[in-house]
Amino acid sequence: MQEYDVIIIGGGPAGMTAGIYAARAGAKVLMLEKECVGGQMAATAKIDNYPGFKSVNGFDLSQTMLDQVTNLGVEVKYVSVDVLNLKGKIKKVQAGGETYTAPSVILAMGASARGIGAKGEKEFTGKGVSYCAVCDGAFFRGKTVAVVGGGNTAVGDAIYLAPIVKKLYIIHRRDVFTAQEVEKAQLDKLIKAKNSNIELKLNNIIESVSGSGVLSSVTLRNVKDNTTENLALDGVFVAVGRNPNTEMIEDVIELNGGYIVTNEKMETNVAGVYAAGDVVVKQLRQIATAVSDGAIAGTNAAVFAKKSKQ
Ligand SMILES: Cc1cc2nc3c(=O)[nH]c(=O)nc-3n(C[C@H](O)[C@H](O)[C@H](O)COP(=O)(O)OP(=O)(O)OC[C@H]3O[C@@H](n4cnc5c(N)ncnc54)[C@H](O)[C@@H]3O)c2cc1C
Repeated sequence: MQEYDVIIIGGGPAGMTAGIYAARAGAKVLMLEKECVGGQMAATAKIDNYPGFKSVNGFDLSQTMLDQVTNLGVEVKYVSVDVLNLKGKIKKVQAGGETYTAPSVILAMGASARGIGAKGEKEFTGKGVSYCAVCDGAFFRGKTVAVVGGGNTAVGDAIYLAPIVKKLYIIHRRDVFTAQEVEKAQLDKLIKAKNSNIELKLNNIIESVSGSGVLSSVTLRNVKDNTTENLALDGVFVAVGRNPNTEMIEDVIELNGGYIVTNEKMETNVAGVYAAGDVVVKQLRQIATAVSDGAIAGTNAAVFAKKSKQ
């Protein structure tokens, strides 16, 4: 059993900022990250709206934050948290066969990509179906791919992939995009460009993906007239939204629509348990708001831990 003052679950911008603030407040801090520090931020090629940087690569920004976190003495372990016992004065966190304890826990597990529910989607994940254009786009250089979705992420993915691939389809179940105006204008320019390689498949959903070992085609269904069409593809980039990573805590922590309910101190309904970032009920899920939550959660979690020792 290893004892800490504050344990942070998730090493995205919310978790890392919580680490910075808790450590600077004098707490002994452990941050547990199951994949790669930076979370969704690390998988974003170009971030143009984080103050202080005109434009920054998300992986680079993640590494800069990590440097700051580790310099302050936050212990970082790369392991997935499997079980949480948040009841009682001392919380227990189980990860990779170890048990870690602390009076304060910060939930900063972020969100994960939502699937499209197409037949064969799971089977072909990593074999042609991807949920991260920035991570996997380079594997499809010169190939024919599709982006699925019509929001910010889908349009951003299309803008990122178009110069890399031979042909790009955008498959969207509606006939309008819901992305922000700046992104829509950029995409429009690419579509109208001479020799554009982008083709829209509006009012369409992917019914199934198929191939032999790796993906080679998808079946589209037009939601207006119910007709189907086969499309030969090497890759499908799914960008239809995110789900909060809160399954592990749904019996203990108050949720709304799957997101954690907090007050302005980032406290949850359980004393000593705080939450920050995309897992929280909020209006805007961005890096700037994740770091804001993290700062508040980190500060209050450290104070709570100190008081609980007195
Ligand atoms: C494609 C894309 C582009 C984006 N572009 C921008 C942009 O330009 N500007 C902007 O401000 N925002 C952007 N965002 C949103 C921004 O990335 C998120 O709002 C931000 O990363 C949320 O931070 P977070 O720390 O709350 O969660 P996340 O970044 O999701 O990090 C959560 C971390 O928790 C870890 N984790 C989850 N469960 C466990 C567990 N059980 N055990 C251990 N670790 C766990 C995950 O592996 C992950 O690393 C973008 C998002 C995406 C997907």
